[in-house]
Amino acid sequence: MADLSKMNAGELREEATRLEAEVERLEREAARRDFTVHEHVEADLAALQQIYKDRAAKCNHRKGGRIKLDENTLDPDWWAKGTDAMYAVVKHRLPGGDWIVKCLRCMCEWLHDTPGYAEALKYPTDNVSSSGVLFGVQITADTLRRLKERGIDILKFEKGL
Ligand SMILES: [Zn+2]
Repeated sequence: MADLSKMNAGELREEATRLEAEVERLEREAARRDFTVHEHVEADLAALQQIYKDRAAKCNHRKGGRIKLDENTLDPDWWAKGTDAMYAVVKHRLPGGDWIVKCLRCMCEWLHDTPGYAEALKYPTDNVSSSGVLFGVQITADTLRRLKERGIDILKFEKGL
C-alpha cells in the first residue's frame, strides 16, 4: 500500500483512480463467482432430480424388506425392495380437494394428472392420511405444481418410514 501522506495532489488522484479500477475489477470477479456458484446449484439440482427419478423407477413403494444382502454387505437398493403388504406412502388431501400421494422411500409424488395416480391412491398403507387448510384458500394440485416449479413446497410430510 502506498503511503498516502507523502503523496501530492496528482499522485493522490492517480492512486484514487487505481483503487477505483481495482474495486471495479473485484466487483466483476465477485459477480462472475456468484454466476459460477449458481451454475453449480442448477447442475446439482438437475443431478438430484435425476437421482429421484432413478429411485422412483426402481422403488416398489412398499414398507419392509431386508437392508443387508448378506451378513457383511448392505444392499444399496434396500429402500426399493419393500416386502410388506403396506406401502410406504402418505396421502395428503389438499384444501382444494385433490389428493397427493408421496412415497417416503423414493420421494416420488403422484398428483391427479401423474401417470399411476389412481393406483397410488389405492395403495394400502397404515400411515395416517392428512389434509390441510391454508388460510381458507383453495390449493389445487395444478397450483401446487406451479408453486413447486418455482421452488415453493408448501407441504411437509413428517411421517416416518
Ligand atoms: Zn417409492
